[in-house]
Amino acid sequence: MPIKVEDYYPRETFNKMKAFADQHETPFVVIDTAIIKQAYDDLRAGFEFAKVYYAVKANPAIEIIELLRDKGSNFDIASIYELDKVLSAGVSPDRMSYGNTIKKARDVRYFYEKGVRLFATDSEADLRNIAKAAPGSKIYVRILTEGSTSADWPLSRKFGCQTDMAMDLLILAKQLGLVPYGISFHVGSQQRDIDVWDAAIAKVKVIFERLKEEDGIVLQMINMGGGFPANYITRTNSLETYAEEIIRFLKDDFGDELPEIILEPGRSLIANAGILVSEVVLVARKSRTAVERWVYTDVGKFSGLIETMDEAIKFPVWTEKKGEMEEVVIAGPTCDSADIMYEHYKYGLPLNLASGDRLYWFSTGAYTTSYSAVEFNGFPPLKSFYL
Ligand SMILES: *Cc1c(COP(=O)(O)O)cnc(C)c1O
Repeated sequence: MPIKVEDYYPRETFNKMKAFADQHETPFVVIDTAIIKQAYDDLRAGFEFAKVYYAVKANPAIEIIELLRDKGSNFDIASIYELDKVLSAGVSPDRMSYGNTIKKARDVRYFYEKGVRLFATDSEADLRNIAKAAPGSKIYVRILTEGSTSADWPLSRKFGCQTDMAMDLLILAKQLGLVPYGISFHVGSQQRDIDVWDAAIAKVKVIFERLKEEDGIVLQMINMGGGFPANYITRTNSLETYAEEIIRFLKDDFGDELPEIILEPGRSLIANAGILVSEVVLVARKSRTAVERWVYTDVGKFSGLIETMDEAIKFPVWTEKKGEMEEVVIAGPTCDSADIMYEHYKYGLPLNLASGDRLYWFSTGAYTTSYSAVEFNGFPPLKSFYL
């Protein structure tokens, strides 16, 4: 099926991005910041009571940090480098959390010295580091969630702990002079099954109740992470539907007296705002009679498209060329055979596609520039422009 522009961008926006793209040499990502603003407003409208902490790793461009700063967003920070960048944009540290559960004690201290007082954890070793390096801070414990098969980019197994361990950690946090503040989870990025939030919220509810009854600890916050959808080939429900359903789950468990709710969107805020523009380097067949063509482009797994690993994220690929379509394998420009984006999932591209033609990878605003290698085969990092 050919990709239709209108399914992904308003025509006028697309024309503007394309006109800009026509002036520049590939490969690069062009990002329309108006789409990010709209996505932020839509999220706020869907979850009126929630605080947004933008997951900086999705796209750490200063243009995006400043835009979200001005919108009043908070920031979920994963390293001292992200911290310095967001601080240098003039965001105050009370609008930040240190959401990475894997961190060095000296980095915890750095965050504390810079004024950050909200920390994620999922292990005793990390919690003890925080107690020493960031005394008196607020702690939220990340729990494991299900849903890794319905998320296109799962984040669950490496992070989080079981319910019992989460309770132990919050009790210990109190003993260590920290503030046991809340629970977080991340149901997996590009999570297509909304029901996994139901299961996660139910787990949180049990922890809230048991800690209150058994230990007199009153938690105040639920951090529901990211996982909200972007538009790729595999369609999802609308953000509106996500919001309606998730709010229903929250009210079922917590009634009208909701605790503080935090969201940490990355992908859903940024992805739809970007188009990665690449050029066809070669089109080749492996034998005289081979039906399948190989399309090699000047962008690949190591220059922004790592989320094509295991063909997890299926980016819509558009070309101006029209005409009869045939199945292709799409691969990158480097000397690494892992640098094949799509082979099993059958992309169709026009038969008359040739060297020099451009391919437009839609919905590539998030997790492209930040994942790009710096010098593999000498190729420079992926460029990006912000309109
Ligand atoms: C990556 C990440 C996010 C963002 O997730 P998306 O699915 O991109 O919205 C949020 N929270 C944490 C802790 C993360 O690591």
